[in-house]
Amino acid sequence: MILLDGKKLNGEIADGLKKKIEESGIRPTLAIIQVGNVEESNAYIRHKKSYGERIGANVVHIVLASDIPETELINKINELNNDSGVNGIIVQLPISKHLDKNKVIESVSPMKDVDGLHSINAGKVFSDDLTGVTPATPKGVISLLKHYGIKIEGKRALVIGKSMLVGKPVAMLLLREGATVTIAHSKTENLKDVVKESDIVVVAVGKAGLITKEMVREGQVIVDVGTNSVEGEKTLEEIPTRKLVGDVAFDEVKDIVYAISPVPGGAGPMTVASLFENLVEVSLKK
Ligand code: NAP
Repeated sequence: MILLDGKKLNGEIADGLKKKIEESGIRPTLAIIQVGNVEESNAYIRHKKSYGERIGANVVHIVLASDIPETELINKINELNNDSGVNGIIVQLPISKHLDKNKVIESVSPMKDVDGLHSINAGKVFSDDLTGVTPATPKGVISLLKHYGIKIEGKRALVIGKSMLVGKPVAMLLLREGATVTIAHSKTENLKDVVKESDIVVVAVGKAGLITKEMVREGQVIVDVGTNSVEGEKTLEEIPTRKLVGDVAFDEVKDIVYAISPVPGGAGPMTVASLFENLVEVSLKK
């Protein structure tokens, strides 16, 4: 089995980006807006800060109150949109329920939207317009497959999950690479059969253990984008712990398929690497 090691590739991409930044003489700046203090977000932001440091980019972390009025948040984003010293802006998701997520995403300038979530950038993925910022998680999935020499052209690719954040753009990028693409979702009948007949399976659902050994076969390539916090082993003091797993029952599937990405260490670090690739790209465009 080939392990699609996103953590390793994340490091290799960092080395390349560091060199690119040194050669350009431009130090890109990423602004991360965090609304409230969600522990899960703190961990993701720590990763982004340390990646920025590693490649020589500035990361400015702006923490706003969880009950911030929407207009105030949008004003802050506008301030950053107009700040020529800021190259990229991300709003760390999830944000508080009282805020309209789409409205907030749409208020980030598409030129600084390094997550690639703005409808203009999303739209460009669907129209094969390469001038947009490619959504970070989907871009990371494709980079991971390509890095490990997985042939996409002509293959039957299945994307499970149809969100605008992951499923749909991943499907469009696979299509661009020449795959024959199927998108499965919660209403899909006989998911097992649909999975079995696919060569490449990208799973982005958010349900631990969705893909089991009965659903896969030899020769398949699986990228697990799902992240689920489940109960881990108890400590010696019988204290319950949590651990991160994907949507695929990795331990039982890994010895059957040709290649698989782990969780953690697969799509997650690739998202971070792709985000910074986008940051460097938009910074050098200026
Ligand atoms: P989402 O918006 O909740 O979408 C989940 C999708 O899964 C929906 O399209 C849903 O179908 C489908 N689904 C639900 N139950 C299903 C089932 N039993 N069989 C088949 N499809 C099913 O989630 P998301 O934002 O796309 O994220 C998906 C997962 O990826 C989450 O675990 C998230 O944490 C993770 N994620 C990871 C990264 C990373 O960097 N690693 C980045 C983004 C997201 P319907 O549309 O029919 O409801």
